[in-house]
Amino acid sequence: MSKIKIAEIFYSLQGEGQYVGVPSIFMRTFGCNFTCAGFGMQRGELSKEVDTVAANVDQYKDYRELPLVSTGCDSYASWDARFKHLSPMLTVKAIVDRFQELLPEGTFGPNKHLIITGGEPLLGWQRSYPALIDEIINRDMNLTHITFETNGTQPLSDDFKQCLDKIVNEYNIEITYSLSCKLPCSGEAWEDAIKPEVVKQYLETKGHRSYFKFVVATAQDVEDAHRAIAEYAAAGIDIPVYLMPVGGVNSVYELNERQVADYCRDHGLRFSPRIQVPLYKNAWGT
Ligand code: SF4
Repeated sequence: MSKIKIAEIFYSLQGEGQYVGVPSIFMRTFGCNFTCAGFGMQRGELSKEVDTVAANVDQYKDYRELPLVSTGCDSYASWDARFKHLSPMLTVKAIVDRFQELLPEGTFGPNKHLIITGGEPLLGWQRSYPALIDEIINRDMNLTHITFETNGTQPLSDDFKQCLDKIVNEYNIEITYSLSCKLPCSGEAWEDAIKPEVVKQYLETKGHRSYFKFVVATAQDVEDAHRAIAEYAAAGIDIPVYLMPVGGVNSVYELNERQVADYCRDHGLRFSPRIQVPLYKNAWGT
């Protein structure tokens, strides 16, 4: 039976991007190819905040007890090996059981999406998603929409691509790639993070509803976002673009929210909030 290492499964409102406000099951897989330690830091500096949490890791018995961080990746425990014992390997059957427990009426539908997030959800777990999706379909749960929240660097395997083509064509399931491609403010290198050839492959999925979501704080970040947009456009990629403020905690989010919103208004770009921060303080499980 296929298994996936799961950091969190929870039911909440989508807080970011094109589907803000849509009730959704979030499945957060373990593992990421990046660390994004530059968020919230001066350019060129990397956050060490998670090291402090990791130094006391034994005191945390559950994912939801972990503290939030104000710099670096706000979902650090979903990829940092020092926290991996908090993310169990679950069978696809156990995962879908949990979806059914959490979903009102136990089913998806047009107003209840499935979001596969991470970490980076398109790493090796691609091999287990066909079994996961089969399990959902076999239980007749009216799955209508899957969003992959990805950093846009991992090619799709042939098997997984075939699976996606099948569910789109036979079951009318819509696929969205929410592409949060990482700019230099994340601390990741441009050539590792901006991969037009990978994104082009995602966009071959029929009827996809994909969009970019760039995390920004400063004018330099916005300039980088424009450079990335131009690089993707040169490869023939033309999908909606959202700018979203840096900030996994209220104090940082509030510093950036208004200026990014005003910039988007003044330059005709789409603004994405992170409603989980003001609504739920970005707690784990929201
Ligand atoms: S790509 Fe996403 S999950 Fe991975 S380190 Fe960066 S912000 Fe965190």
